[in-house]
Amino acid sequence: MIIDSHQHFVRLARHPEVEGFRAAQLTGKNPDALPDISDAEVRKSLEQVVSLMVSRNIDVAFASPRAKAMATHEGTPEQNAIWADLNNGLILRACQLNPGRFAPVGMLGQHPTSPSEQVAKQIERWASQGFVAFNFDPDGTGGRWQNPPFTGKHNYPVFEAAQALDVPLVLHGSESINKNFPHTAVQYLVADITGFVQLMMAKDLFRDFPRLRFLIPHGGGALPCQIGRWRAIAKYNSWASPDEILGNGNVFVDTCVYNDLNMQMLFDAVPLDNVLFGSECDGAFPGVVNEQTGDHYDNTWRYVDDSKLSSADKDRVYAANARRVYPRASRWLKS
Ligand SMILES: [Zn+2]
Repeated sequence: MIIDSHQHFVRLARHPEVEGFRAAQLTGKNPDALPDISDAEVRKSLEQVVSLMVSRNIDVAFASPRAKAMATHEGTPEQNAIWADLNNGLILRACQLNPGRFAPVGMLGQHPTSPSEQVAKQIERWASQGFVAFNFDPDGTGGRWQNPPFTGKHNYPVFEAAQALDVPLVLHGSESINKNFPHTAVQYLVADITGFVQLMMAKDLFRDFPRLRFLIPHGGGALPCQIGRWRAIAKYNSWASPDEILGNGNVFVDTCVYNDLNMQMLFDAVPLDNVLFGSECDGAFPGVVNEQTGDHYDNTWRYVDDSKLSSADKDRVYAANARRVYPRASRWLKS
């Protein structure tokens, strides 16, 4: 079995009525009615993704709303809670309409002034509907990074809910209003790097929440290249080392890196139990072809398959680790 642990239903999020709802919210209109998207439209929005999954031998994907659309720096706490619920409802319906294909990962109505109790309640509500994990924006200020580190006590209600419900938090960046930080090229990777380092710096977090799990996407950001630097600074500053937070089972990464060399560096830097297959299938840069492989850059299966891992190790990366890290996904998987 191959599980893609990192997929977004971007086409669904870009439905004109969905985008129109958010645009109306942001002009202060607060529409009373949610967009009326038919099951046929939901299915149609996923045709391309499902056919790519078939051609890439991906059996199941953990799918979440479009990351850019979280836009946690915009709107109000109330608007963002409604916006996240709208997106989660669509994700849930898409998963239910494609049994055995997808498991739902949620959006959270974060906002710089959102009480984290409200976000925690949203985790509880959607986990009870079958959601297996939640994307959590470690910035929340649109690329300005003006909030205190996300690991602080202000977010403890979120961490309490995630640990109690056994759902990992995926540290995923969102829209950037900072023109120096285009969202997919920089802001997401800054979020990965910042998320990982803040977890090293947070002395009390894993003492207070020993079973809390974070997934850092995109190969852990700079992790494959810079783990040596972070080992050094951890000793220098008495932070937790990268090996400690990985080895204790609190932090995991996915395989969303787009060439053979970096995939091998990822496998060399990170214990294999901490690497989950991810491909952002049809998500980040749909249709863009890597001339070296003649295939899409985001067909990350190629780079894993080309690697020197044994077939038993590939099986861990392809599915076993995802099943362990996302225990609530089992109900969505065909036996
Ligand atoms: Zn993503």
